[in-house]
Amino acid sequence: MKCAHCGYADVPADASSCPSCGRPPALSRPGRSPADVTPEWLAGLLKSIGYEVESGSDGAIKARHQTKPNIVVRVRKDLGLITIGHFWGMKKPGFGGTGKIMEAVNRANSISWRSTFFSDKDGDLAVTSYIPLGTSITGEDVLGFLDKAFEEFLVTVSASGLSNFLRG
Ligand SMILES: [Zn+2]
Repeated sequence: MKCAHCGYADVPADASSCPSCGRPPALSRPGRSPADVTPEWLAGLLKSIGYEVESGSDGAIKARHQTKPNIVVRVRKDLGLITIGHFWGMKKPGFGGTGKIMEAVNRANSISWRSTFFSDKDGDLAVTSYIPLGTSITGEDVLGFLDKAFEEFLVTVSASGLSNFLRG
């Protein structure tokens, strides 16, 4: 077992305190340190909630779901983040429509703190949500954050007016 306070890796499971820093493991959250957050672990979590998972050559996980948005997940240990990319088809803008879309994208970015919004070269909406790795992260943390990110996405596209431009 790993000490969540100091990172000491060999704390016996039945220990009353960490041999290294002396703090009680009962106070430590059972979770993974950022070093142990791997694409394989994340792929397993996504499978557990019904995603079909495919690993990209660049370490990205492409995940498809029947009812949830399709996502591309990357572990960015250099940034201390897991990034979740999701992509939304947009209607073809009419004359002068591109400016209105950009205004809505800017509004979305000013409202949202979990995600950044970007209108990509194909005119689709690319959204990136960020999960902080912190010092310790559990599977429930990751899946809970994913749900929150989607909830917040729906609120943000509605409040920013972006929902008017989304297909379907
Ligand atoms: Zn310790």
